[in-house]
Amino acid sequence: MDDRQFRTAMGKFATGVTVIATEQDGDVHGMTANAFMSVSLDPKLVVISIGEHAKLLQKIKDSQIFTVNILAEDQKELSMIFAGQIKEPRHVEFGRLDGKPVLEGAVAQVACEVSAEHVEGDHTLFIGKVTDIRLEDKEPLVFYSGKYRSLEQEVSLV
Ligand code: FAD
Repeated sequence: MDDRQFRTAMGKFATGVTVIATEQDGDVHGMTANAFMSVSLDPKLVVISIGEHAKLLQKIKDSQIFTVNILAEDQKELSMIFAGQIKEPRHVEFGRLDGKPVLEGAVAQVACEVSAEHVEGDHTLFIGKVTDIRLEDKEPLVFYSGKYRSLEQEVSLV
């Protein structure tokens, strides 16, 4: 099994797209991520997975806080900005939730405090204790097989 085959297989898992944001000494840093999962209801915990070369890694280690912003279908450009797919620097305005930086217009904005971190291979998993949530009634941006997509129709299960 080579790296390409592993990536292709993992890309067959359709996900939403998030921007993880943190703040240190007034500087907000965001990064696009789809390795995000709900972990526990009581207490309310989520997990994110950050690559060892990502600048965001040390910033979260230092700040011990992050937000998960689940992007709406009209926010593809934000995903591209925070993934470094748009190279020119852009000014992005952040709002606040529980004092932490969030992207307004995201379908869900989740504020977290780091409750644990685990290094696994070339990534670090951060477990976040959820301190606040804001929801917006919009459709999500979807990522599948290396491409951005939108939900076109609901699939009936019956
Ligand atoms: P940089 O590459 O320096 O930052 C990313 C970009 O964000 C830069 O262009 C920077 O200018 C911009 N930026 C940061 N903060 C601000 C701000 N305040 N205002 C304006 N612009 C700002 N990587 C993972 O580790 N885990 C994942 O789960 C993951 N999932 C991904 C899912 C998708 C769909 C995509 C496209 C990429 C994913 N990546 C993931 C890769 C990751 O997004 C990129 O490698 C990213 O460039 C790493 O960011 P960085 O923290 O190293 O910082």
